[in-house]
Amino acid sequence: MEIEDHYALLLGISSPWEISSVNLNMPGNRVDIEIDYADGSGICPECGTVCPKHDDRERRTWRHLDTMQFSTYLHAQLPRVKCKKHGVKTASAPWATKNSRFTLLFESFAIQVIQASRSIEEARKLLRLNWHQVEAIKRRAVERGLARRDSTAIEYLGIDEKQFRSGHQYITNLVDLKQGRVLDVVEERKEEACNTLFLQALTPDQREQVTAVALDMWKAYANAVEGLLPQAVIVHDRFHISQHLNQAVDQVRRAENKQLASEGDNRLKGTKHFWLYNAENVKASHHDQFDRLKGSNLKVARAWALKEHFRPFWDYRSKGWAKRYFERWYSWAIRCRLEPVKKVARMLKTHIEGLLNYFDHRISNAAAEGLNSKIQTVKSNARGYRSFEGFRTSILFYCGKLKMQP
Ligand SMILES: [Zn+2]
Repeated sequence: MEIEDHYALLLGISSPWEISSVNLNMPGNRVDIEIDYADGSGICPECGTVCPKHDDRERRTWRHLDTMQFSTYLHAQLPRVKCKKHGVKTASAPWATKNSRFTLLFESFAIQVIQASRSIEEARKLLRLNWHQVEAIKRRAVERGLARRDSTAIEYLGIDEKQFRSGHQYITNLVDLKQGRVLDVVEERKEEACNTLFLQALTPDQREQVTAVALDMWKAYANAVEGLLPQAVIVHDRFHISQHLNQAVDQVRRAENKQLASEGDNRLKGTKHFWLYNAENVKASHHDQFDRLKGSNLKVARAWALKEHFRPFWDYRSKGWAKRYFERWYSWAIRCRLEPVKKVARMLKTHIEGLLNYFDHRISNAAAEGLNSKIQTVKSNARGYRSFEGFRTSILFYCGKLKMQP
């Protein structure tokens, strides 16, 4: 078997394409394969009709998977055909997709390498590509994946804001909670942004079919859900609620620590994390100290007790009992004389319906916890992204569960 035939088999190249030469460059560690088009007619890429050949495009190069340790490149002039209906069009090459400088095999291999690598830098080195080439492969992969998404009903959604870069730039993230995948992200966290997200990520049928959405007590998101997802029930997310309570405890601690320190009392110094963990997660070596503080008449101890006593709320099986439990907790909280805690208590009361919906649907953004840490990794690897678009591509590439192979 001639080496040309060998490569033709390897590349799946058949008539009217043929390999005219294979040049092995030993010192350069590369193989260059020339491919010719041997036919007077070709297929219109728009309609599939066989048309007469018009001329040839300039010679182009595609990178293929390495042969042993040799970088392997294909070179060809793509023919242009003259279609009666579509005019002069460039015929497509069977080994590559339009506008790609890589063969299909190389591109699908690269997608797997990029997904498996811990960083773009690592993937880039393994594949011997530059940063822009990796980004282009990811972008095409995500485009293919999004185009292949079907319109199967999605029962439960989660909407969440995330900080994008430092400072106050936010993105809004839409998650399919059951499948643990990101559907899409948009810039900002306003109502319009959330509307855009629903319109962009869901088909009209899917918008009709959403059963419930987990979200923070955030008016902009709730408005968007009410406006665009007519069947969806709002479930206020327990993960965010515990964050609000934690923040209230922390505010109480900071104010009290300042007050005490000014009187020379340093009991609260360095205790920030005790109050934020769930009780069972405080380190054993700190138990004694924490027990003493908890049992004291400090304000932060009272705030902390209120936070801890909110937790059993989520364990109720019946909505009615949960509601009664809440009422009792609320009447305690509202009389606690700690403004940050009272503020959260009032907010919870205003949103009680959404809290109680949890007992019908039991969804939360924390359910997508594995996903959240994955997004976090993408974010921390995203220092190089100047644009939001690059960041969005990465989130969808790693967290979208898309079918991205060419
Ligand atoms: Zn045509």
